[in-house]
Amino acid sequence: MHTDTVTSYFLSFSRNSSEEPSPKSNHFGLSIYRHFGDINQAGKRMELMFAKPEVETPSGLKASAVSTRAFKGSSFKAILPKLYTSPFETIFCPDTKQSMYCQILFGLIQRDEVVMIGSIFASTVVRSIKFLENNWKELCSNIKTGQISEWITDSGCRNAASLILKPNLELADLIEDVCSCKSWEGIIRKLWPKTKYIGTVCTGAMLQYTAELEFYCGGLPLVSGFYACSEGAIGINLEPLCKPSDVSYTFLPNMVYYEFLSIKEDCDTDSQNQVQLNAMSHHEDTGPVDLVNVKLGQCYEVLVTSSMGLYRYRVGDIIKVTGFNNNTPQFQFVGRQNVALGVDMERTSEADILKAVAEAKALLDPLGLILTEYTSYGDTSSTPGHYVIFWEIKPKEGNNNNNDGKELDPKVMEECCSKMEDSLHFTYRMYRKENMIAALEIRVVKQGTFESLLDYFVSKGASLSQYKAPICIKSKEALNILDSRVIAKFFSPRTPIQDN
Ligand code: AMP
Repeated sequence: MHTDTVTSYFLSFSRNSSEEPSPKSNHFGLSIYRHFGDINQAGKRMELMFAKPEVETPSGLKASAVSTRAFKGSSFKAILPKLYTSPFETIFCPDTKQSMYCQILFGLIQRDEVVMIGSIFASTVVRSIKFLENNWKELCSNIKTGQISEWITDSGCRNAASLILKPNLELADLIEDVCSCKSWEGIIRKLWPKTKYIGTVCTGAMLQYTAELEFYCGGLPLVSGFYACSEGAIGINLEPLCKPSDVSYTFLPNMVYYEFLSIKEDCDTDSQNQVQLNAMSHHEDTGPVDLVNVKLGQCYEVLVTSSMGLYRYRVGDIIKVTGFNNNTPQFQFVGRQNVALGVDMERTSEADILKAVAEAKALLDPLGLILTEYTSYGDTSSTPGHYVIFWEIKPKEGNNNNNDGKELDPKVMEECCSKMEDSLHFTYRMYRKENMIAALEIRVVKQGTFESLLDYFVSKGASLSQYKAPICIKSKEALNILDSRVIAKFFSPRTPIQDN
């Protein structure tokens, strides 16, 4: 039984990557089966997949993104036409815009067969729905005429289209009807009515996309199936129906050799039951511990030793042990160790920023606005330095792409700045009070800005399949992209509350 890209992702780490996985060797597949039945028999998966071309290292070795390796596997290629809506050529199309257009087109054409929608990371699913929002008229016209748009010049994509695209007026009208409705709430269910779940990583940095995804998917379960990285497949989620914020992954001890560095300060759990890494956390002075010796409730940094040549490699992720499945440890993903904002001696983790944004963005809800993407930057160009948070906001209703920031209530936006500051850690608030850090600033950017940011990172070599919008911006060019699209700026008008 194949489950989804998750399986192929994992297969790329296993020794027999050309063999089909059996249900017995695949616990994630079994748990999906338990809740959703045999997806293979039910229909197809519309998974957005993007392969990156291989590069050659100076010593002549071939190097590629792990997802590309998975997509290239012979067993994956063999089952692709039967189980997935995306033809092989579209996944390997070097132009990501053409690739996304075609994958959505083929997903729409096969809408009656689609039983699962997904991508490796939630940001890609959200991005594809936004892409559809901007391109549905053209997609419908292609379906109506049976002719793919001229700007799709990739020969593989055009060949794939010639095999599957036939004039279908009825389908085009139906999709047009659905897409022209005022609100896109529940659009995924309306367009792909047989979908049983959305399969995509929703934890960690991807948690920020869940609100928007929930809005689009109209009650479909978000299944965050696995935790993996280029260094190795780390864990699977044995409770697929668990809320993204509560997901624990069960370790896969046979993938690579794992060890763990203890983190001294323990992690807290916030109001949304998310594990938060204390900003002052650091390693204990003890050596690494083996998987069998990890302790419940303890936070660790993951080390990997693998047959690929990594030795005690620091993946940079922090996890918290939350329980055991039989004797196998389970854990929540806490955050990246090295992603931190700091404009003085304070240290703010990715988890701190995530939590502060989660608190502040709730203030947008009564205004009918959604925070779709964000990132942050430590601005030290003046003294004292300050935190800048870039927000892309859109209205819940309608499809307003001409947002110019005028409808934003300055009072609410300033309160959002203050709320973020109130939610940050003790050191930040103390430094603010002592004027060692200046007022936090929210810069609202035009809709589509994060799309441009993605294009920039992809043009610099990032894999679209594995792209995650950075929670903190370090690159000057990326900052310029954001700054050139700012439509409004707001500052916190007060010092943060000191006593929480
Ligand atoms: P990459 O090496 O590009 O495949 O990215 C791997 C990184 O993505 C990991 O080290 C994590 O930081 C992040 N990641 C992967 N899976 C998850 C997950 N389930 N939850 C949160 N973060 C994840």
